[in-house]
Amino acid sequence: MSATPAPLHSRTVGGIRITYLPDGVANFSYDVFPGSSLECWARHASQTSDGRWVCSIGGFLIESGDQKILVDLGFGNTELEVEGFVSAKSGNLLTSLGAAGATPAGIDTVVYTHMHADHTGWTVTDNALTFGNARHLAGPGEVEHWLAHADESFAPAQQLPFTSQFEVSTDGETLAPGVEIIHASGHTPGHQCVVVSSGTERAVILGDTIHTSAQLEEPDLTFMFDVDPVAARQWREDILTKLQDTGTTVGACHFSGSAFGRVMTGQGRRFWASLGG
Ligand SMILES: [Zn+2]
Repeated sequence: MSATPAPLHSRTVGGIRITYLPDGVANFSYDVFPGSSLECWARHASQTSDGRWVCSIGGFLIESGDQKILVDLGFGNTELEVEGFVSAKSGNLLTSLGAAGATPAGIDTVVYTHMHADHTGWTVTDNALTFGNARHLAGPGEVEHWLAHADESFAPAQQLPFTSQFEVSTDGETLAPGVEIIHASGHTPGHQCVVVSSGTERAVILGDTIHTSAQLEEPDLTFMFDVDPVAARQWREDILTKLQDTGTTVGACHFSGSAFGRVMTGQGRRFWASLGG
C-alpha cells in the first residue's frame, strides 16, 4: 500500500481539542536518511510511494478553553523540486485552519517546534505577520542559530527579518490550561515539544523529534537535517521509551497516513499504532 499524506483530523484529549492541519507533502529520496538501505525501506513500504519517503507537512491547532494555539506553520505557498532528492508542494494550511473553524486573527499563540522552513512557512503574509494577534514563541537559541545559518537548506530565510517580534520560550512554560512547552534540543538547538494534559488524558506533539514511524523500529535511521544527530537520537530514544505503552496520544507532523498515533510494544518490538484520521 502506498503512503498518503496525513489528512485533517481532530482528536480530544480530555477537554482540549487538537487538530492536525495539513499544508502539503514532500516526497524525499531515501538519502534524506543517510545510509538507510532498500531492505530497511522494504520493511516500511507503507511509508513510501514510488521509491520515495512520503513526508506530510502541516501544523497542529490546540484549543484549550478560549485559547487557540498553533504549533508550527507549514511550508507556505511552496513548490520545490530538487532533481533526484525531493519534490514538495504545499499551501493548504490556512484552508485547513478554516475547515477547523478558526481564523488567523483568532490565534492567540504561535509556537515553533523549531524554525526549519517547513515549520515557519506561513509566518508572513503581505509583509506582515499572518497571525497578527498572536505571541510567536521559539526555543532558546533557535533564532540566533538561523541568523547564523541563513544560507543552509531549509533555513527560514524569508522569515528571519520578522524574528525580532518573536519571544523566547522557557522550559515548562504554560501556554494555556493543560498546554506546556518542553525543551528538546537536538534536531535544532532550540527544538521543543508541546505537552497537552487534561483529565486523565495526555498528548505530546513531538515536532521533528521523529520523522517517520519507521524510526520507532529502526533506531539507526537518522535524519539528514538533524543539526546535532547524536543529541537528536538520544532525545528520540528517551521520549519514545517514556511514551511507549502509556496510551499517550502522539502528534507527529511528518508521518504519512495519520499525524496521530500511539507508541506501542509487543512481540519484541516497538511500533506505531495509528489513530487514523
Ligand atoms: Zn520538519
